[in-house]
Amino acid sequence: MKAEIISIGTEILLGQILNTNQQWLSLKLAELGIDVYYQSTVGDNPGRLARAITRGLNRSDIVITTGGLGPTVDDITLEAISRAFSKKLIYNKKIAAKISSHFGSQCLDMPSGNLRQAHIPEGAKILENHVGTAPGFIIEGGGKLLIALPGPPRELDPMFERYAMPYLRKKAGSDWVIKVRSVNITGLPESAVDRKVKDLLKSSPPVTVGIYAKPALIELKIIAKAKGEKAAKALMDRIDRKISARLKDRIFGRDNETLEGAVGKMLTAKHKTLAIAESCTGGLISSRITDIPGSSAYFRIGIAAYSNEAKISQLCVSPATISKYGAVSRQTALEMAKNVRQISGTDIGLSVTGIAGPGGGTKAKPVGLVYIALAMPKSVVWKEFHFRGGREMIKFRSSQAALDLLRGSL
Ligand code: ATP
Ligand code: MG
Repeated sequence: MKAEIISIGTEILLGQILNTNQQWLSLKLAELGIDVYYQSTVGDNPGRLARAITRGLNRSDIVITTGGLGPTVDDITLEAISRAFSKKLIYNKKIAAKISSHFGSQCLDMPSGNLRQAHIPEGAKILENHVGTAPGFIIEGGGKLLIALPGPPRELDPMFERYAMPYLRKKAGSDWVIKVRSVNITGLPESAVDRKVKDLLKSSPPVTVGIYAKPALIELKIIAKAKGEKAAKALMDRIDRKISARLKDRIFGRDNETLEGAVGKMLTAKHKTLAIAESCTGGLISSRITDIPGSSAYFRIGIAAYSNEAKISQLCVSPATISKYGAVSRQTALEMAKNVRQISGTDIGLSVTGIAGPGGGTKAKPVGLVYIALAMPKSVVWKEFHFRGGREMIKFRSSQAALDLLRGSL
C-alpha cells in the first residue's frame, strides 16, 4: 500500500514550526510496512488544500492529513475533506457532548466555534481525542482511505498509535515491516565511501542502500522490507556484512551510536583513562565526551587553554615552543597532549590546537589548519588537518577528527 502525508498549516510553510508530525508518522508507517511515496505541506487555504487532497487520493492508497482540525476559522481541513469525498458534514451529538463536557470539566466557557468540531464527514469513523477536543477520523471511498489527525503532536501521537495503527495493520493485511539500519562512517569523504559500495547502492528492493553525507560523517542506510522483523534483519545483516568487509575500521557504529559513544565504550572496555587539552575547540570535545552517561569512569580532566598564557601556565607548554613554532603547530599540540596526560596521570592525553576563523589565518597558517595530538604511555602521534567551513563547522570537524584519532588508538 502506498501512503502519503499532507501536513496542513501556514505556520509550517513560514518556517515557524518544525514539521515533526511528518517525521513521526513516516517512522510509524515504515513500522507498519507501508511505503510513503509523497510528503507535502499546504497552508491554511481551502482551494490549495482541496487540490492537495484530490491529488493525494488519485496517486496514493492512503492519505494522512495532520492539522487544521481545530475550532478556528483557519481550521479548514473538515470542509476540504468532505468536499473531496463528496460527503456531507454531519453533526455528531456524541462529539458535541464530549466537547461541552471538556469545557465543563475545566470550568471554561465554550466558544461557539468549538461546536464546528462536532461535525464529521458522513460515514467517517471517529478517532477519539483523549487529550484535546478535536477528534480525528477515518474515511473510506473509491478504494481509498483518508485519515485526518489533529496538529498538536501530544494529541496526534496517542490517537494514531491507539486507533489508526491497529486499523492500518488490519488494512495492510499482513506482517510486512520496513526496517532501516544506519552504518556510521567517519574519516573518509563521501566520494571514497561511494566508490567502495557503488554496487550496493544499486541494490533493488527488498533491500536497498542509500548514502547520506553529514559533517564529518557518512551514513549508509540499509532499508529492508520483509515479512516480519526476523526476515528484515536477515536481509540487512547480509548487506551489512559486505559493507563491514569493505569499510572495516572506518565504521564506528550503527543507528544512533555516536563517535563519543563508541570511544566511551572502548575506553571502558580497556580500562583506560583520558585527559583533554583543547584550544580551538574550546571544550567541545570534553563536552561531547561527557554527553555519554558513565563517562566519569574514564574521563578525568578537560582543560580549555585558549590563550598562549594559559597554555604556558596551565599546561606547562614551553614559551620557547610557542614563540618558535606558534600556538598552532605540531610542536605545541604534542606538548599539550603529553603535558595534560602527565599533569592528570591518565593513560591518554588528547590535544587540539588550530585556527577556527573567520579571522586569524595567514598564508602559511590558513583558517582551518588544525593539529591534533595523542599521547599514550609508550608513544605520541599527531596529525595535521585542513578543514573547510565556518567557525562552528571547523570546531565540530576538529572534535570529530580528535575523537576518531583517539578511537583508532584504542
Ligand atoms: P488545534 O485544535 O490546536 O487548533 P489543529 O488540529 O487545528 O489543532 P493546527 O491548528 O494546524 O492543528 O496546529 C496547532 C498546533 O499544533 C501548531 O501551532 C503546532 O504547535 C502543532 N502542529 C501542527 N502541525 C504540526 C506538525 N506538522 N508538526 C509539529 N507540530 C505541529
Ligand atoms: Mg488549529
